[in-house]
Amino acid sequence: MRRGLTVVLAVLSSLVVSAGLLTVPAHATSTHATSSDATASQRYAMPVEAYPPYQPQKTCARKDKPGTVALGRWLVARGGVYGGTLRACSSGGQSEHKDGRAFDWMLDASDPDDRAIADAFLIEAFADDELGDTDALARRMGIMYVIWNDRMYAAWDGFEPTKYLSSGCRTRRACSVTLRHRDHVHVSLSKAGARGLTSWYVEQALAPPTA
Ligand SMILES: [Zn+2]
Repeated sequence: MRRGLTVVLAVLSSLVVSAGLLTVPAHATSTHATSSDATASQRYAMPVEAYPPYQPQKTCARKDKPGTVALGRWLVARGGVYGGTLRACSSGGQSEHKDGRAFDWMLDASDPDDRAIADAFLIEAFADDELGDTDALARRMGIMYVIWNDRMYAAWDGFEPTKYLSSGCRTRRACSVTLRHRDHVHVSLSKAGARGLTSWYVEQALAPPTA
């Protein structure tokens, strides 16, 4: 009986293989073993944070904030160039760059490789986790909003993409690549995220190095 079952199983498994039903997960064939792979499979002790509300910039920072810098470095490790965080308050208008909560990730939306890097991050950040928490990584990172390639992804809209046009532009055509955010991804963080107090920063700092 046992022998017969083994034969049946052997036949079944060979059928499965020949039918091509055994598929290799796409990421297993990827040569891009980035730090994101470790993060995606990371288990957190802390629950996922609520979507942060809009917290407008009101103060002027003189020093970089640790969460903003950590996220910026993590992003640049995937490609692109570090575009900086802090900007002087002497220029007009409100910006999270002035209180150290914003990071510019220099990528070129007209370059397919750069676009793929940015889009891969957005897909990962706005994916559900294994518990079904929506936009889990973005919430753990304390992302308040992202602007990239004429689109804005805001926590208060559940990170649904909306068309973005800078207040400095009448039309998209008259708008510079910078104001259209086609030469960089702008990431603004919540106050807690910028200070490195949300779960992604806290637990990443405690996790063993993945290199
Ligand atoms: Zn920016």
